[in-house]
Amino acid sequence: GPTLAHRLEGLPAPATIEMARRARELRAEGHEVISLALGEPDFPTPAVAIEAAHQAALAGKTKYPPVDGTPELKAAVARKFSRENGLDFAADELMVSNGGKQVIFNAFMATINPGDEVVVPAPYWVSYPLIARMFGGVPVHPVCDEADGFSLKPERLAAVMTPRTKWLVLSFPNNPTGGLCSEDDLRGIAEVLRAYPNVWILSDEIYEHLVFDNNRFTSFAAIAPDLKDRIVTMNGVAKAYAMTGWRVGYAGGPKRLIAAMRSVQSNATSGVCTVAQAAAAAALDSPPDLIRDMVVTYERRRNLMVAALRNIPGLTCANPAGAFYVYPGIAGCLGRVTAGGRRLDTDTDFAMALLEEAHVATVPGSAFGLAPYLRLSCATTDAALKEACARIEGFIRTLK
Ligand code: PLP
Repeated sequence: GPTLAHRLEGLPAPATIEMARRARELRAEGHEVISLALGEPDFPTPAVAIEAAHQAALAGKTKYPPVDGTPELKAAVARKFSRENGLDFAADELMVSNGGKQVIFNAFMATINPGDEVVVPAPYWVSYPLIARMFGGVPVHPVCDEADGFSLKPERLAAVMTPRTKWLVLSFPNNPTGGLCSEDDLRGIAEVLRAYPNVWILSDEIYEHLVFDNNRFTSFAAIAPDLKDRIVTMNGVAKAYAMTGWRVGYAGGPKRLIAAMRSVQSNATSGVCTVAQAAAAAALDSPPDLIRDMVVTYERRRNLMVAALRNIPGLTCANPAGAFYVYPGIAGCLGRVTAGGRRLDTDTDFAMALLEEAHVATVPGSAFGLAPYLRLSCATTDAALKEACARIEGFIRTLK
């Protein structure tokens, strides 16, 4: 029959799909499954954003938008970058896309030739290596260790850079670990990059506001202004404003690259839904207490999770500096056998058995390139988190 494109050959299906399928089955059988598998805020979208979308639709803002974003949203993005990140971008250095994800897709499609290496520190959000591979890119994964708070150490980066390196992806606060890179480490990373003038840098700052304790987030482009002509600073409204379904992300970067990304997007989608852009502009211009209230809640949940998990023998648990995940290590549980007779050789075995026997859905660390861990999302109620931890504890305490 008709064939598919070579570029899709060997692209693995996301590891989470089988887990999600099994969780649905268990629910259909009447089991109460708690899911800590989703990377999605559990808050509603702020009313100001919804109201702005409604008004935009009533005002007739329902025609094709400019490919790179409405002037209103681009202006709000420019204000946001200046106010929150100390970054100044002209209009032709900014663009709006269908989620942060399309920023990455545009940027990689516009730049990657087959064989180009894309450095994605592990553990990572899976879309970076998968998108890179669609264009023949070769992902390279230096490791961010638990012992380093899951930060990227400059010497780890230096060890993987080659003349074929095309991109470095920086993604802090990190999905899946919640790890943050210190300003010192970011300065060290910038120093490594100065020796490689042909490398683009993607700074994915989508979790920037979700930072706890006395940690402080700083944009990479603000740390290394001399590298600004090769940095794409990416962000979006999905995580900060609980707007995952609106599909609005944005980027600031050098004019030459933004123009190439705009041309990719022009052929792919013609731009972003107009009413969603109006909603995003209202969110970006809203008072900061909207986000602050959510951060207080995420921090309380993180504290609850870390305390509960550290109490369970067989687990290690770093204290995440940001985002809404915890990433406990399960090395102490490997080689053991569950009450239901399942042998745990990998974190995937662990996650699957935990789902089958304790009805808690998680994602194994191997899906993110660093095993043996579990990613637990804290984006659910305190009660669900407490019950999930109790079930995890029961599951581990009955291992043989
Ligand atoms: N970057 C990271 C690190 C993410 O975790 C996600 C979503 O899971 C995104 C980007 C994508 O965000 P968007 O929904 O804006 O495409």
